[in-house]
Amino acid sequence: MPDYLDNLMPETTPLLKQLRAYAKKHDVPIITREGERFLNQLLVLKDAKNVLEIGAAIGYSAISMALNTKCHVTTIERDQAMVKQAKINISDANLDTHITVIEADALTLDVSELPMFDVLFIDAAKAQYIKFFEKYAPFVKPGGLIITDNLLFHGLIDQEVESRNLRQLLRKLDTFNQYILTRDDYITEIYRIGDGMSVSIKRK
Ligand code: SAM
Repeated sequence: MPDYLDNLMPETTPLLKQLRAYAKKHDVPIITREGERFLNQLLVLKDAKNVLEIGAAIGYSAISMALNTKCHVTTIERDQAMVKQAKINISDANLDTHITVIEADALTLDVSELPMFDVLFIDAAKAQYIKFFEKYAPFVKPGGLIITDNLLFHGLIDQEVESRNLRQLLRKLDTFNQYILTRDDYITEIYRIGDGMSVSIKRK
């Protein structure tokens, strides 16, 4: 049920509204509006010029970041159909020069040519978060941010659940949460924002 703050949020652009409706209709999981606003605010605070995203889906969060903060977004997506739709949406938004879509599995992608980024946003397969973090954190500049989404998993993170697969996934997310909070080379907080988002500042 939408609460007071949900109702208070101003409208987004017609394109973002349309993309959110498309995602809902086609069951594509995308960032919550609250998470989206938080993410964009962090990018502005950080004065981020370039962002690396893992998990584009239909390009919603990448488009929102590029539109709202004027940064360049490089986004990695492994699902061919998602890549196709993301590219259509990015063109419709006239953001082809602001967003680069890499069609690849982020876990196997050759990263030897990857530049350094101000911000890394991890929003792909939840069970692989530690692997994404370890592979892509070296490409975050000192003082840069690593942001992850869905860490509280719809409030289920500490609940007893019937499904064995879901239990395994929640255990992996819990392990990731402990992992980021105990890495001394980052200053990390996990926020009850959106679906649970972490912000890790890479120590200089
Ligand atoms: N960031 C998007 C947004 O908020 O608009 C939503 C991303 S959706 C939650 C997660 C996406 O990550 C899916 O489209 C999935 O195909 C992709 N994904 C999952 N594992 C991946 C991997 N190893 N490499 C690249 N993409 C991956």
